Amino acid sequence: MKIGIIGGGQLAQMMALAAHPLGLKTICLEPTPHCPASLVTEVMVGAYDDNEKLQALANAVDVITYEFENISTAALNHLKQFCIYPPTQALTISQDRLQEKRLFEHLQIPTTRYTTIHSLMDLQAAIKSIGLPAVLKTRRLGYDGKGQYVLKNNEDIISAWENLKTQPLLLENKVAFDREVSCIGVRSQTGEIIFYDLIENQHKEGVLHLSQITCTNTAMEKLAQDYVTRILIEFNYVGVLTVEFFVKDNVLIANEIAPRVHNSGHWTLEGADTSQFENHLRAICGLPLGSTTTRGKVAMLNLVGVLPDLTTLLKLPHAHLHIYGKAPRPGRKLGHVTLCTQDSSIFAAELKKLIG
Ligand code: AMP
Repeated sequence: MKIGIIGGGQLAQMMALAAHPLGLKTICLEPTPHCPASLVTEVMVGAYDDNEKLQALANAVDVITYEFENISTAALNHLKQFCIYPPTQALTISQDRLQEKRLFEHLQIPTTRYTTIHSLMDLQAAIKSIGLPAVLKTRRLGYDGKGQYVLKNNEDIISAWENLKTQPLLLENKVAFDREVSCIGVRSQTGEIIFYDLIENQHKEGVLHLSQITCTNTAMEKLAQDYVTRILIEFNYVGVLTVEFFVKDNVLIANEIAPRVHNSGHWTLEGADTSQFENHLRAICGLPLGSTTTRGKVAMLNLVGVLPDLTTLLKLPHAHLHIYGKAPRPGRKLGHVTLCTQDSSIFAAELKKLIG
């Protein structure tokens, strides 16, 4: 089988690498010829919303998937006779924070309090009911903390409004969370649903920094899986789905969904029996899913902005390095390291060295 991937970044690169051992072929549609995926697979150079290129991609493959959310669903709808997984309905919802909130409400999944904002007057009225601190976010095209401002006082309100006022917006209460977690589920074409262990995520300047498996609250983990199951069933979903939650006093508050393989699941490459990339491919190709069991103690550190000294890093016996082949730039994800071992004390010592 051949899989068409829209996007040629590191997620596409890791999907393509996971495809090889399964005997699957991949090709990416991507405007930048020297993208990370080009190091490991064929690339069709073209814009993501170029109808002719999308049609050519569909003609060349058996199934299409995507590695990011900001894809024109109008363009994808031209291929509606064609097999696209995960379903484009889930993609459409993930592109708009308002639709995401409505999905959570419809499925009775707790989320933040929120109001849509069309004017400065709306914003001021919303702040009266939601209170401060609050977060003003663009409804569309936000990622890695971009397109959002934390509002603590009047000055913040004015400057955030000036920066965002041309776009559809949403205000939500700022959750004083204890932790952020993500739940990664996979659904097969036959409706089988499996989960990876709940992941705790720490961010730095809006970008994921460190992911670890820390959850000891089985009831909370089961509830997270129940919430994700509701979404998977709602869309008759096929593939990997990630849902991010805030945790406050052991209560889960849904933040957003990502209908794709996710940065917080990179640890599964070495840290789980079957990686999220392999299971996504298995699901979309109609193959049985593989075990998601975690292999010992696991952590994943993103390498952001500049690469550290790789020799020092590789001296850690249980560190696995992944470099994406991207030029350094502040805030840019250039690679990641997974730490994985059965031994808790070795894990703790190496993690300390890794994160400094
Ligand atoms: P998002 O783009 O919604 O995933 O936001 C990026 C990051 O900003 C989240 O992972 C949180 O760390 C933080 N954040 C976003 N919204 C909120 C909120 N309502 N309350 C507290 N923190 C938030």
